[in-house]
Parts: sequence; C-alpha cells; structure tokens
Amino acid sequence: MEKSKISRREFLKKTGAVVGGAAVGTSLIGLTGCATTGVAAGFEGGVPSKWDFSTEVAIVGLGGAGAAAAIEAADNGAKVLIMEKQGPITINNTRMSGGVWHNPHKDGARSHLVNYIKATMSGENIPWKFEGEQPHVSDDMAEMFATGIMKLEDWLMDMDPDLDRSNMTPRAEASFPMFPSFKEAKYGETIGTRYKDYAKADLKLAPYDRPKQTKASGEALYHCLVEEGIKKKRGDKVQIWYSSPVKRIIRAANGEVQGVVCEKDGKIVNVRATKAVILCSGGFEYNLPMRRAFQEGAGVKGWVFYGTLDNTGDGIEMAMLIGCGLAKVAKSASRIEAGWPTGKWWTPDGKGLKIGTMSSSTSSRNSLVVDNYGVRYADEFIITDSRRPYRYQFYKEAVKYDMLAMDIPRTPSWAICDETRRLSGPFTGLVQQDYRNMVYGSDDNMDAINKGWIIKGDTLDELAEKIRADPENRKMMDTAKLKAQVARFNQYCAAGKDEEFGRSPTTMGPVDKPPFYAIKHYPGGPNTKGGIDADYQRRALDWTGKPIARLYTAGEISSVFKFVYQAGGNITECMVCGRKAGENAAKEKPWA
Ligand SMILES: Cc1cc2nc3c(=O)[nH]c(=O)nc-3n(C[C@H](O)[C@H](O)[C@H](O)COP(=O)(O)OP(=O)(O)OC[C@H]3O[C@@H](n4cnc5c(N)ncnc54)[C@H](O)[C@@H]3O)c2cc1C
Repeated sequence: MEKSKISRREFLKKTGAVVGGAAVGTSLIGLTGCATTGVAAGFEGGVPSKWDFSTEVAIVGLGGAGAAAAIEAADNGAKVLIMEKQGPITINNTRMSGGVWHNPHKDGARSHLVNYIKATMSGENIPWKFEGEQPHVSDDMAEMFATGIMKLEDWLMDMDPDLDRSNMTPRAEASFPMFPSFKEAKYGETIGTRYKDYAKADLKLAPYDRPKQTKASGEALYHCLVEEGIKKKRGDKVQIWYSSPVKRIIRAANGEVQGVVCEKDGKIVNVRATKAVILCSGGFEYNLPMRRAFQEGAGVKGWVFYGTLDNTGDGIEMAMLIGCGLAKVAKSASRIEAGWPTGKWWTPDGKGLKIGTMSSSTSSRNSLVVDNYGVRYADEFIITDSRRPYRYQFYKEAVKYDMLAMDIPRTPSWAICDETRRLSGPFTGLVQQDYRNMVYGSDDNMDAINKGWIIKGDTLDELAEKIRADPENRKMMDTAKLKAQVARFNQYCAAGKDEEFGRSPTTMGPVDKPPFYAIKHYPGGPNTKGGIDADYQRRALDWTGKPIARLYTAGEISSVFKFVYQAGGNITECMVCGRKAGENAAKEKPWA
C-alpha cells in the first residue's frame, strides 16, 4: 500500500478517530476461531468525530469496475463519489487492456451458460472441491453472471452509440472444451471494444491522447465508460476526485461500514457514505508482502506483471483490516513474461519489483525457451497462442518445484534467440513503454542489450557462460545441454517436426545466426486474481462468510475467476460485478 506522507500518530489525530470498535473486532476473532491479522487493528481508528464530506455511495478506484459501479449506482438514484489514487490521466489495467470481453451467442441455452460459467469460476472444473466454491457463492454467482453478461452489449452501446457494434458480434467458441456445457452454452468472446474510425488512429500519439473516434481496446472502453457514461451523461450525480488515495475504511461499532478516509490534496478527508462503500481498487501486482504471501513459486523476484504500477493491493489491505475474508488469492491469469529491472518499484539494490512486458520473443520464429539448465520444457507457442485455451495457465509449468534439487529450475526461464530474431523486431510487447512506465528503447533491441537487460554472446558457449554468471541462474546453466538443445531444435525446424513438444513447425525457425541472445522470463501476466471474498450480490464477506454491512466490491480486487482464465473474463467481470455492486449499494437505506 502506498505509504502516506503523514505519520501514523498525526493520521489518527487528523481523522479525529475515536477508539470505538475494538470489542467488535475481538468478537470476530472469536467467531472465526483464528486470529486473522489486523481485524482488531482495523477498528482502532473507529468513527471520526467529524465528517468532511458526505455522499451516498463512495467508490474506491476508477477502473472498469469502479466506473461500472458508479454508472449503475447513479442510475439507481444515488449520489456518488469516486476517489481515484492517480491523477486525471489514470493509467489503470482497464485502460491498458485489450478491451476484450465476453458476449455469448443469444441463442445459447441459459442453463448451459450457467454450467459453463460456474466451471470457469471454479477454475479447476472439479465440482466437489470445497475451495472458494461454496455453493452460496458460486451457484448464485454463475446465475447472476449469466444474466449480467447478456446485457453488456446493449449497455455499452447505450453509453456511447459511436462504438463499433459490428465488432461486438460473438465469435468463436468458448475456450475450454473440457468444461461442462461447452458446446450448448455458445459462450463466444468478442474481439473487443473500439470506435468506428479506429483504423485511422495516429499511432505516433500516446494511446490516451488519440481522439475518441480512433480509440480502440482498453482506451475505447475506458473512454466510453468514464468520459461518456460518467462525465457526459451522469456528471450531475457522480463526482470524481483524482489524486485522492483512500487510506482506510471506516467501520462503526455496530459493524456497518460508514465511510472512508481519503488523502486529498495532501489533506486527510473523512468521507461519509450514507448508503455504502464499493471497493474497486484493483489487484496486488505491486504489493511486495502480498506477492510474497500469496504467489506460487518465487513470488517476489520470480514474478512480473505487465499492467498498471498503481495496483498495490490497497483495497485488499484495508478490507482485511476491518475483518474481510479472502478468496482465491494465490491465483492470477499468467503465463511467462519478460521482466525488466526498471520502473518505480525497482530499487538499485535489486530488492524491488521488476516490470513485466508481454513477450513476443517466446513463441516467435528463431527462438526457443529453456530452463536454468538449458533444457526446453514445453511447446513455447502455447504462451501466446490465442487459439488454444492454455496460455494463461502456462505459468503453472514455470513455477514447477524440483523436489530433489529443492529449487524452481524454470524461474527464470530463458528465451534464446539469434541475430535473425533480433533484427525482426522488438523482443517484447511495448505497452508499458506506450504508457510511460518504462523505456525499453529502440525497436532493434540494441538499447536493451546495451543496458545489460538482454545477455548477448558471440557464440552459444559464450552465451551459456554469461547466463551462468548471472546471479538469477544460480550457476545452473550447462553449456553442453544448451548447445545440444539448440542443435535439436534446429533439426526439428529443418525436418518440420518438433519431436519433443509438438510445436507447430510454421511457428519455428532455426536459432543459428550469431550473435545469440538470452532474455529472462518469469511467471506473470496482466493481473492478479482473487482478494476480498464476496458473494453474488457483491457484498464483501468476513471470514465466516457473513456480509459486512454496506461494503461491496468488484473487479480484480475480488475476482470471481481463478487461474483458468478465458481471455476477456476480467473486463467482463468488471462490468457485470461492478454493475451489480452499484445497483445494490444504491438500494441500501441510508443510515444517516
Ligand atoms: C496489458 C493488459 C491487457 C489486458 N487485456 C485484457 C482484455 O483484453 N480483456 C480482459 O478481460 N482483461 C484484460 N486485462 C485485465 C483487465 O484489464 C483487468 O483485470 C481489469 O481492467 C481490472 O479492472 P479494475 O477496475 O478491477 O482495476 P483497474 O482498472 O486496475 O483499476 C483500479 C484503479 O484503482 C485505483 N486505486 C488503487 N488503489 C487505490 C486507492 N488506495 N485509492 C483510490 N484508488 C486506488 C488505481 O489507481 C486504478 O485506477 C488486461 C490487463 C493488462 C494489463
């Protein structure tokens, strides 16, 4: 969580906090039978003696989930305040995204749709597994989702008729043929969100500076929701405070959430929410302790994410402090990604968090991926292949633990490329550069090579030696194994058949033109999943499964999905769950 510039003592003084709810906190610990971290501490601040601002529904975070919640709360008659940590050019995951969402065919049978959705939420497709899939959550959640998802197309077009509806036609089949009702559900996905003149976009402009009619992907979605849906159409009911990080949830002694504490213009502001608070502040991609606690494998150094740098788990931390339970937290939609030692969370001592970028190098021609010993372990094309369902699960391969060596030999993995590949374009996707989070440099990759981010060797022997010398390789690289592996790979390319992993020959090309390059890859992806436990009404739940009064949540902070992820699910849930949270929050009877 972003550290406040204000000391803890000063903070409590400024909020006018009174110690009011410790007893409730303690009783919660008693109820759950376990001392959940911070439950009592969450009540330490209590209810402030004076409120600085009053609204009916207070929303934390202006991504897709927060925007959808605000629109729906306003349409249900509520006065809404959104508090956003970033400034007006808010670079969040919604904005950086591909803007892809799900739009099932209208003639699919509803019961089958529910079955399929339920399996995607369970993730493992194991109905008897009693893990985060309690019937009161997942059955009802799938029903709610099946209803909400069918309304999205019209809802978005209503927000802005200038969107390109022709691009919303359901296409393709669902991702997971092994899930129940796969065929009958007709659960296709849309290509994405875009405006009618998207093809005329001036690509030299930053994505967020392009005129409305040429916007596409997440930029189009964000514009539609925030600029059109909120500012133009509901500006009288919804107020947005930028540069206003929320620091704490206020829960009264009677157990109800009554507001939040926000830092606005360097001042502490106690915001009263007479109906409800909705948490939509995204995931924990850049929260070091949460990564350490939740992620599989080497959660801190061995993971990278390619979205916003401002998803620091704030909402999850605040919710835990007032007694919220967690669900599905160790999950993320992930594959393997290039990771770079730069960005605002990286530190010169090497203890910070790297930035991830989507990786074209892993599955393009003239490249292969090996573990720390120099051995391939999978068909690399899976990592980016949108025609197969497995790409967002690929990380499971990379976190594999070697019981005998007591190590994780595939973290990092190494993309091995040659000069032909270097000259064919950037080794990596450059979304992070488009959004000014990092500078990768020239498209011929030379800047990154000269910075030492990419290892170069005139021969494979030299490359292997340099990889061995890299501390993250832990001296595992075996030159003979790497050379033999590359030779085998090149033979498969010549023969048109990958004997080891069956990679499609059309995606392969030999790695034979020196110099050679090695790029580190880590488990990672767009976003984390899981966080606050919540039911189908999007009410936040405590550790006993009981709703916390007047607290709702939606989006990445409380994702309904696990690691089995059909592309587009995140944006879909932002809209479906955000709308549900907004509607229910607005319908609450005011407490004051
Ligand atoms: C490059 C990329 C491509 C993607 N493509 C797709 C796709 O095509 N389809 C899909 O379904 N998913 C996609 N995803 C994932 C998807 O974008 C996210 O899961 C989704 O947008 C999350 O929305 P959200 O509203 O929950 O969070 P966000 O959009 O990240 O918004 C959270 C907001 O909360 C703010 N915030 C954080 N802390 C505080 C605080 N303390 N106080 C106030 N505000 C706070 C943040 O600044 C941020 O603006 C992609 C992600 C990335 C990074």
